[in-house]
Formats: sequence, structure tokens, C-alpha cells
Amino acid sequence: MSIVTRFAPSPTGYLHLGHAFAALTAWGRARATGGQFLLRIEDIDPARCRPEFAAAILEDLAWLGVDWDGPVRVQSAHLPAYRAALDTLAGRGLLYPCFCTRAAIAREVAGAAAAPQGPDGAPLYPGACRALSPAERVERIAAGTPYALRLDMARAVAEAGPLHFHEIDAGQVLCIPERFGDVVLGRKDAPASYHLCVTHDDAVQGVTLVTRGEDLRPATDLHRLLQALLGWPAPAYAHHRLVRDPSGRRLAKRDGDVSLRALRAAATTPAEVRTRAGWVRPDRVT
Ligand code: GLU
Repeated sequence: MSIVTRFAPSPTGYLHLGHAFAALTAWGRARATGGQFLLRIEDIDPARCRPEFAAAILEDLAWLGVDWDGPVRVQSAHLPAYRAALDTLAGRGLLYPCFCTRAAIAREVAGAAAAPQGPDGAPLYPGACRALSPAERVERIAAGTPYALRLDMARAVAEAGPLHFHEIDAGQVLCIPERFGDVVLGRKDAPASYHLCVTHDDAVQGVTLVTRGEDLRPATDLHRLLQALLGWPAPAYAHHRLVRDPSGRRLAKRDGDVSLRALRAAATTPAEVRTRAGWVRPDRVT
């Protein structure tokens, strides 16, 4: 069966060599196997995403020689679908509204004897709003207090049971979604979270192989949990190495000196970019 894979950048800046490597890795595998390569713009964060960066992504990929199959999916055009997924989870008692501000959470964590950390190094949500009564929730929502929607992780894990994901070249990997704690799935400042939208879209787009950087490997545990809870298929995963600068630091969008735009302006050719990114065209992938 041929693969369906994808590149799913967020338009928060210009693409750099790391993105070039990610896009080429997914595209090269699809093209070498007669599979499909999809492009998705993950622009649900209105504070960080800009339309001009989305336009630049399409242009830079075309310049690099990366072509995609079918229409580009733009997440901001599908907000009702993410809302529906949140409603499904809420209807099963797996989400709760959290009215805590960042400052309130920081205070609570500072006063706690132990403060376990999530995969990103931030402390896990200590759970104050999990204990609110239904009446208190209704009252605060009616009063217009802003809230996020958090996953009740203990319930979710109990419902889903033990889970694994399949990493190509490595096999089955045990998922430990608990390390995210009661993660936010519906944000106060954005319609939904990255975790919900990416998992939803990989499912509705029929992605069979999620290709992305190894920095997102821990998130896969949570995505697998959402797939199980929502009855979505489990794709395989290919987490690839990250491109680093000579000092070993991973590239970031703020480093304009390695943006594809800047390289292009300096007369670098697409072939040179592919080499600098360390990408090798696969002859044949089975
Ligand atoms: N949109 C995410 C990013 O730009 C990547 C999503 C993914 O590949 O799962 O970091």
C-alpha cells in the first residue's frame, strides 16, 4: 500500500534549512515510493501566524523543487471541525474548563512540594480547576471568565488503555501520554491546540506516515491517545534528525541568516540548499 505523508509548517516565520530537510524528507519518501505528499499550513495561532509567511512557504517549497499533491489544507479554514472534536471529548466528560491564569498556575506550582515537569520542561498543571463542581463551572462561564479546555488525563488514559505507536525503522514504541498531565486542547487565545488540530488533520487527510522532526517525538504519545479516544486511525511515524548549526544548536526561525529566502538572495541554488540541509535523495524506499 502506498504511503500518504505530509509537511505541516506553521507560518510564524520564513522556512530555514531545517524545514527544507523536513519537507524534502517527507516529499522524497513519497516520490520514491509512488505515494502522496500533502502540504498543510498550521495557522491556528492568530498571534503568531501571518499570511505573508504562509505565501512564502508555498513559494520557497516550489523554488526548492518540492511539489505537493492536491490542495493545500489551511487549518484556519476548518475551525468548526476542531470544535466538533472538542465537543465529542467534552460530551464524554474527558475535558474540563480551566479558568487559571498563567500567574495563578505559577503561584500554585511555586507553593507545591513537588512540581513534575512535562516534556517541554514546563511544570504540569497542578489541577485546581479539575476539582470545581459543575455549578461552579457554569457560574464562571456565565460570568464571562475566559477559560481553556483541559484533557482529564487520568480519565482519558483509563478509557484508552495501554497504547503504542509504530516508528518505522524502530518498531512499536510504548506511549506515556501521562507525562503531559492535563494538557490544554482548547486554548483561551486560539480556537484549539496544536495537538488536537494536527491529530485531527492527519486523520481526515488520510495520512499513513507522519514525517516530522524528532523534537515532536514526545508529542506522539499524546497524539496516539487522541486517536484512540476519537476513533481515528493510527498512522506510522518517521521522526527525523534535526538540522543543527556547527555549534550543535538546532536552527530556529529567528535565525534569518539560514532562511531559504536569505540563501536565495545570496544566489544559493536549490541543489546547494539540499546539500547544505544534508538531504540525500532516496533511490528506492521500501
Ligand atoms: N506545525 C508544526 C510545526 O511547524 C509541525 C506539525 C507536525 O509536523 O506534526 O512545528
